[in-house]
Amino acid sequence: MLLDDEVIRLVGISDRALAILGETDRTIDTRLHAHLPGKGPVSVQAYVVYHNAVRGPPCKGGIRMSSDVTLQETIQLAEIMTFKTALMDLPFGGGKASIVAGSGLPPQEKATLVREFAHKIRNELTSGAYVPAPDLGTSPREMAVIFGETHMRECVTGKPVGIGGLPGRREATGYGVAVVVEQAAKELLNSGLSGLTVGVQGFGNVGSWACTFLSERGAKVVAVTDASGGAVSRDGIDIEELKKHVAKHGGVEGYGKHLSNEELFKLDVDILIPAAIGGVITRDNAGDIKARLVVEGANAPTTKEADEILSRRNIPLVPDILANAGGVVASYDEWMMAKSGSRTNKEETYSTVRKVLLDAFRETLDYSSDHEVSPRKSALALAAERLVGTMEDRGWI
Ligand code: NAD
Repeated sequence: MLLDDEVIRLVGISDRALAILGETDRTIDTRLHAHLPGKGPVSVQAYVVYHNAVRGPPCKGGIRMSSDVTLQETIQLAEIMTFKTALMDLPFGGGKASIVAGSGLPPQEKATLVREFAHKIRNELTSGAYVPAPDLGTSPREMAVIFGETHMRECVTGKPVGIGGLPGRREATGYGVAVVVEQAAKELLNSGLSGLTVGVQGFGNVGSWACTFLSERGAKVVAVTDASGGAVSRDGIDIEELKKHVAKHGGVEGYGKHLSNEELFKLDVDILIPAAIGGVITRDNAGDIKARLVVEGANAPTTKEADEILSRRNIPLVPDILANAGGVVASYDEWMMAKSGSRTNKEETYSTVRKVLLDAFRETLDYSSDHEVSPRKSALALAAERLVGTMEDRGWI
């Protein structure tokens, strides 16, 4: 459970509300059977989890495709979505789906599995109970497959622009991370971004766009790692060149001087951005972190023990439900657009993400100083207040 005793006490959450927030509303546990070109027939596990739908339906959350994703992790990610959508004040419940298959599968094989997945959960998609988006291992291409199956634009967000995707949605999470980093540097480090050094884990959708926007704003990205390895350059990495390298070679490794994922977390940088998988900042490496600020681009990259260690070491951390919420904020606009038929442009998307995230950042820091608790506890408390309020409004408690 994300909430700890201190947050429960601060918000004054009743036992009944706590019991509801502590349980999973619904789990779909299913097998996908498909014939993959070159591999023959396969059976693959998939899950859809609705953690809490008091502010929905729909339940909102991406589809993760990874060979080691579990039901437990999918539940944890859906719970994060419950709190993230509430912190952003969006009328969505928290959901998540996962397909237990390698994120590195060729696009045609991913498409085959996602098509089968969409068949299996067709009723969830077309009834508006679950609205997916990209997450680790999936991209607009897989969302296009879902649209191809349902022919309903509001069934899925993070689609390519040509089929009703939102201009700017692709970059929205990384853009939001950069906006939050800039504001956190200003308020927590008393510094502009210019010249600040940054280390990033993950160079997929979130990490690569965060690097782009941070470099554009004058920060110096000195280290990037991913599943293949990593690269470090004290002079700063040219992000556009790194993108070309990754497009050609499939990963960061081989671009300049090697850096391992373990080394990244010990590197002397101003800002550390985990933007890949969960559970990478642990009690084993939290004591070695030299960064002055941690911003969670990934979901749940920091374990509870590590969170306490960073807190004791006075290293401020901007939590996932705030830092990486740009994607779901943009997804809300895409969903609305699909329903209304209206159109927008990239600048408007950026401007919405920026405003919503900066408002939430302000509220979170104010709560933090008023109650003398960390930004993570503050963000969770603000979200919990909204969730409990909605439960009261709906007569659930
Ligand atoms: P992605 O699949 O586009 O990229 C994932 C990146 O992580 C890749 O660079 C990959 O090489 C790297 N990676 C995978 N396993 C790794 C490992 N063991 N060690 C180091 N690096 C590893 O995924 P994404 O969409 O960028 O998502 C990254 C994180 O951000 C996830 O935690 C996801 O839940 C979160 N997130 C994504 C979005 C979104 O809009 N895509 C929104 C909010 C949060």
